[in-house]
Amino acid sequence: MQPRKILLLLFFIQIFCWTAPNLTLAQYAEGVAKVHYAPSRTYDILHMKLEISLDEIRKTVYGKVAYTLTPLNNNLKEIVLDCVDLTVTKTYLADGTNLAFENSNVKLKIKLPQAKNSDDRITLTIEYSGSPKMGLYFIQPDKSYPHKPYQIWSQGEDEDNRYWYPGYDFPNDRFTSEIIATVKNNFTVISNGKLVSVTEDKETGSKTFHWKEDVPHVNYLNSIIVGEYQEIKEDFDGVPVLYYVPKGQEGLAKHAFSKTMDMLKFFSDKIGVKYPYEKYAQTTITDFMWGGMENISATTLTERTLHDRIAHWDVKSEGLVAHELAHQWWGDLLTCKDWSQAWLNEGFATYFEALFIQHDLGEEEFQLDMQGSKESYLDEDKNDYRRPIVYNLYAEPFDLFDSHTYAKGSWVLHMLRSFLGDELFWKGIKHYCNKHREQCVDSHDFQKAMEEATGQNLDWFFSQWIYKAGYPEFEVKWSWEDSSKTVVVSISQNQKTDSLTPIFQMPVEIAFTTNPGRTVKIINIQNKEQEFYLPLDSRPLMVEFDPENKILKTVDFERSTEELLYQLQNSPRSWERSEACQVLAKRGGEKNILQTLEKVLSEDKFYAVRQAAAKALGEIKLKEAKAILKKGLSDPDSRVRRSVISALAKFKDEPDVAEILYKQFKSDSSYYARAEALISLGKTKDKKVYSWILEGLKYDSHNDVIRASVFEALAQLDDSKGIGLVKEYSAYGKPLAVRNSAIWALGKLAKGKESVMASKTYSKQEIREFLENLLWDPLFNTRRAVVGALGDLGDPEAIAELEKFVERELQYRLKSDARRAIRKIREGKKGEVDLRGLKDKVAELEEENKGMKTRLEVLEREVSEKK
Ligand SMILES: [Zn+2]
Repeated sequence: MQPRKILLLLFFIQIFCWTAPNLTLAQYAEGVAKVHYAPSRTYDILHMKLEISLDEIRKTVYGKVAYTLTPLNNNLKEIVLDCVDLTVTKTYLADGTNLAFENSNVKLKIKLPQAKNSDDRITLTIEYSGSPKMGLYFIQPDKSYPHKPYQIWSQGEDEDNRYWYPGYDFPNDRFTSEIIATVKNNFTVISNGKLVSVTEDKETGSKTFHWKEDVPHVNYLNSIIVGEYQEIKEDFDGVPVLYYVPKGQEGLAKHAFSKTMDMLKFFSDKIGVKYPYEKYAQTTITDFMWGGMENISATTLTERTLHDRIAHWDVKSEGLVAHELAHQWWGDLLTCKDWSQAWLNEGFATYFEALFIQHDLGEEEFQLDMQGSKESYLDEDKNDYRRPIVYNLYAEPFDLFDSHTYAKGSWVLHMLRSFLGDELFWKGIKHYCNKHREQCVDSHDFQKAMEEATGQNLDWFFSQWIYKAGYPEFEVKWSWEDSSKTVVVSISQNQKTDSLTPIFQMPVEIAFTTNPGRTVKIINIQNKEQEFYLPLDSRPLMVEFDPENKILKTVDFERSTEELLYQLQNSPRSWERSEACQVLAKRGGEKNILQTLEKVLSEDKFYAVRQAAAKALGEIKLKEAKAILKKGLSDPDSRVRRSVISALAKFKDEPDVAEILYKQFKSDSSYYARAEALISLGKTKDKKVYSWILEGLKYDSHNDVIRASVFEALAQLDDSKGIGLVKEYSAYGKPLAVRNSAIWALGKLAKGKESVMASKTYSKQEIREFLENLLWDPLFNTRRAVVGALGDLGDPEAIAELEKFVERELQYRLKSDARRAIRKIREGKKGEVDLRGLKDKVAELEEENKGMKTRLEVLEREVSEKK
């Protein structure tokens, strides 16, 4: 599954962020978290044959599912299946013998006529019907959205296929499958495995698609998509590679999918197991709640990933496409045997996505991707909770699909590769995949396979990174002893240690650059505090701690401005140049810093370093910095222009900044840069920009990013004049991305106010009740935005409705979001300090202070120069 990308794409749906440190996930999901184990099994399913007929208007399914299975022990008298809110009409054996059954609307218990033994094989069939509330989704147009297409699609992970057919719905049993679906004849059906046949019944105007997957897999990977699609076809070494996009959107497919064939080859070669299924299909769907889902041989993707030539400057689909394809091995061919091991699916898919980027675009883009993962993990650890990667205390399986599983999981693989080296790492990965293909696995299986292949004992590694939590928080200092020609490096680990968080042990590289050249030394970190004495020819010009970023860590590294400027101008590593920008931003506006940043902004060959320079200039906040930034508005890369636009918002007190931003909004060719310009206009808090911001409503763009940014901008402007318009755009019928952004803005605009004045006055209560009504919205992503907005609004009166929402809502992610919102409101209610607000204020004051300090420094310099 890929929830992270969807967040990037949605752009405005915010994850809550407030300080709740030192909690574990169990404490976080207080009162609802419990210990989970995979269920014990009594039978082994060998094959599933599902025949269904779907009605896209009535939203119903009529089905017949036949299981061929064998008891695991003797004397099996009953078969229990997961089956939620389906009407079961009949169950029978292959010879026609009817079977008695009990259907509790959660479990279906089928009585066998006589006890069966482990050498028996049984085929039993269940006939059923229903209107699924989950698992299978019926998309259709209505009066408010007349252009929405008819689609039917399933989403099985985590445990939702039980809502549309009875089955064994846990990932510790694997079987082959057939899905035979009858739909209206204008539709195409996409499912798992090979397309055996398509037959048409002219009399009923229907078509029947028969798909068959011969590679045994777990239940959540079964899928179906029904819709009006255009098929685009390629061939990978005899395997059909299919892309299904809505009719009329074929032209957009190339931007999203053009690297699929390279990825198939890269993963097949690296893993040492060729793509193992009958075909590979990627289908885009409407109203998907995730970015993508790796259903076996048939990935589902959000249609938001389709984009045009202009959006392609800012939007890349390759990460999402590579992530879901990597899952075809990691998740589908080998599957985590219970959710506590989900990193074996998601951490792997996230890392292999990064590995494809490394292969395709090189080391700099790879480092950037890993940096993004690192930030998302550190953010979750700092603001939400800390947990070991393998962890079975949770409320819903979905709770584990977090940044610990995805981002930290990816980093763990990266560290393992760094410690073993490429040769042993890939030898181990090949062995693991070949040894456990078509099996359900846990972390011990992975460790053991890596040890078998490499001869290395990896207990120390798995113990600290998989079964314990946290990361090393290093403080590094160095000094030079000229008499003995020795560099002294002191390293301490400052993380708070407890039963979860250890002192970490690992080898680390340190590099020293002196006039004659660069020397890399490896030191062994074992203790909380250590000093290393290293002989060197002369005092180093630059010292690099873990220069290749092999370790997941934070570093507080004391260095002189001179040394940082050297690093920024001379390091061949783009990530080190970016890091130097970050640190230098805090050193104020000394002339040589500004000059160097100017040079970097205009000349650095890697766009992310130019972005870092722009950000640093925004933080320095001097007139000269603004003048330099203005030049960056003509950077050829729209991503750099976006950073420049965002940095310019920091100069909100300068009279011409609003005009500069407005001009950029009018003239920039990138949708995303124009959206950023509107948001920056909002951040100026200048009342005159209100009407300029509203101009954004006139422009079409990819996923409506410009219109959506109007509401983000209004929330930033915090001008209550906009509230009527924001409410209007929150209504059902407005374009989805715009609507969600408006809902989000509503919570922000009304926060902390008893009433909001506009042409009419809206009381806080009125806005809260308006949002509460939207909790019943049919769309997943809208309910998500509403829950977020209520959390932001912070009105304790909303808790009762949010609690009812948690009770009635079926989608785990929304339940989990609503629990967070309640927690957030309660924390405010208890009169506790709003740490986040306070932190913002402190940061603002620090920034002001820094601005004053740099202005003072410049004045002093000017005065001394005049002397
Ligand atoms: Zn995934």
